[in-house]
Amino acid sequence: MTTLSISAALKQATAGLKNVSGETARLDAEILLADILCCDRIALYSKASGLDEEEKELFNAACARRALGEPTAYITGKQAFWDHDFFVSPATLIPRQDTETLVEVALRALSATQTIRILDIGTGTGCILLSLLAERPNAEGVGLDISREALDVAEKNAALVGVQERSFFIESSWFSGLPAEQQKFDCIVSNPPYIPRNDIDGLMTDVRNFEPMSALDGGADGLIAYREICSNALCYLKEGGSLSVEIGIGQAADVASLFAAAGFKSIETIQDLPGIERIVTGKKS
Ligand code: GLN
Repeated sequence: MTTLSISAALKQATAGLKNVSGETARLDAEILLADILCCDRIALYSKASGLDEEEKELFNAACARRALGEPTAYITGKQAFWDHDFFVSPATLIPRQDTETLVEVALRALSATQTIRILDIGTGTGCILLSLLAERPNAEGVGLDISREALDVAEKNAALVGVQERSFFIESSWFSGLPAEQQKFDCIVSNPPYIPRNDIDGLMTDVRNFEPMSALDGGADGLIAYREICSNALCYLKEGGSLSVEIGIGQAADVASLFAAAGFKSIETIQDLPGIERIVTGKKS
């Protein structure tokens, strides 16, 4: 049996992924190999043993999928976000680092001691809601999504994060499936679909061909979701409660106006780490 050293395997794979992955070719190769060897990326550099035949085959197969444009997260079935490696599936958007800014902003407004309730609209993997629940042991949360398959993934993630007894998932188009008798919330968060329909063709092929269109398509002007959310959110918020949403590039002024028109106060826009206006937040009175 011939073994292939880890460094040789990574070198070969990186060269093979250059076309599709560009600058992240090495990173992608490391993520795929670490997943196959059930270790983290750093541990790849201290492993003495090489890859046996089966591991080589699995690694080649994973690299072949990546070479066809499939995102690494769908190949490994998971994506790091905030403090956890969340399960993902083709029914869910892949959690993005930009969205961690939404978690930070929402946390600022959330009491660490009182019992609080959080609502996440279009929860997908549940990454936002579940990260908030992990940070606030005093909170319970509801995640809404139109996709039953996405909710199945979110439920698995709730168990992974260890907050399943404090999280509830409901199949719902926007607020329509939320029972009227639900108590009001202290905080509503959402990273809704916000890509203007005409821009979808110009997205990276990894995104366009693999991520769920319903999680991306924001309608003709990209703002449909914000209109739905702003026009209903106040009814579901307690006095002083907050609404925080992620936005796309260039949408800050339009979304802030929708917040103002709906009657939100203390409206702010917040930048993500690369300095792009990424979050709009406002309060009910
Ligand atoms: N809330 C999920 C996330 O941020 C899904 C967002 C979406 O599907 N647009 O990853």
